[in-house]
Formats: sequence, C-alpha cells, structure tokens
Amino acid sequence: MKKEITSRPLEIIADLNGISLKSITEHFKLYEGYVKKTNEIRNKLETVDKSLANAAYSEIGELKRQESFALDGVKLHEIYFGILGGDGKVAGRMAEMIIRDFGSIENWIADMTASGLSARGWVITSYDFAEKIVRNYSADAHNVGIIAGTVPLIALDVYEHAYFMDYGVNRKGYIEAFFKNLNWQKIDAIAKEYGL
Ligand code: FE
Repeated sequence: MKKEITSRPLEIIADLNGISLKSITEHFKLYEGYVKKTNEIRNKLETVDKSLANAAYSEIGELKRQESFALDGVKLHEIYFGILGGDGKVAGRMAEMIIRDFGSIENWIADMTASGLSARGWVITSYDFAEKIVRNYSADAHNVGIIAGTVPLIALDVYEHAYFMDYGVNRKGYIEAFFKNLNWQKIDAIAKEYGL
C-alpha cells in the first residue's frame, strides 16, 4: 500500500501581479508542513491501538481527525499554488462552465469575493457530479465545508497567512490580485483530470 505522499515543486519563481514571491515562498512552507504531517499521521496509523478507539478521546480518533485536516491542507494548497502564475485572461472550458452556471464571470467573481470576505479558510469552486453544476463553497478550515460528491477545481486561500505579508488586513485587495494571476489553462487541466 502506497501511504507516503511527496511535496509538489513550487513553480512560481518571481513576484506575481500584486502577490510577492516572498509571501508565496513562506506560504509554500506551510503546504510542505502539511505534507510532512500527513505522512507522520499515516505512519502512526500503521501501529496505533485500534482497540482503544473512543469518541471522547483516543489516539486513533485524534490521528483520524488531524489526517483529514492535514491532507485537505495538502490538496487545497496544491490547487491554489498550481493555478497561480497566469495572466488572469479568462478562457477555456471551465470558464464556459462558470458562465453557464453563474451567468457571467463577473457574477462568479462577485460570489467568490463575497464568499472570500466571509470565510475563515477557503473559497472553493467545485463541480458537483450529482447536480452537474459548478458552485462556490466556503470552508472555515481545510476539512470543514467540503461538499461530498464534488471535486475542487479552483481554490482561493483566505487564511490571514495568505495575504497579511502583502496586504495587512486588506483581504479584498488580495482577493482582487488572486483573479489577476489565475492560469485558466491550468484550471482546465484540473477539470480534464476529472473528465470535465
Ligand atoms: Fe494557506
């Protein structure tokens, strides 16, 4: 059974439009920390005493709880860093799906922005395989707010660590910069992995 995961390399090598390389490289270290913790937890799960399982407190309970936090932290950051570094020019299959389901890119941006200003962790544009639609969902932590049966395609990190270095408390300025740096070809590549 393959249980260890490895960090993806950071492909951003220069300042983005409104987001500094320093902020990105510091942020990336948090992602690498989640990879490390996921592996540490998975290794401990190999030998933990399952007979002591208990919902109030047990070692396996805590490991399982933190596994979902660490691994969602890995997966969401991989989307986030993977889709930045572009010129923000909206084009392609995902853009068409967003226009179909939101009415326009402007509507989607307005919904992402309001969601981002009111969330405590993430805003995620997901595709729902049951409803066959694209929607934005807020997540107050890596492992809180993910909707079953959906796949995340665009992830906007709104934790303070994502923007305080460049923007202080001006989260809106950071969110505006996020859209200017999206690589829509990379977003389409993620959608393609799911056959969308
Ligand atoms: Fe983050």
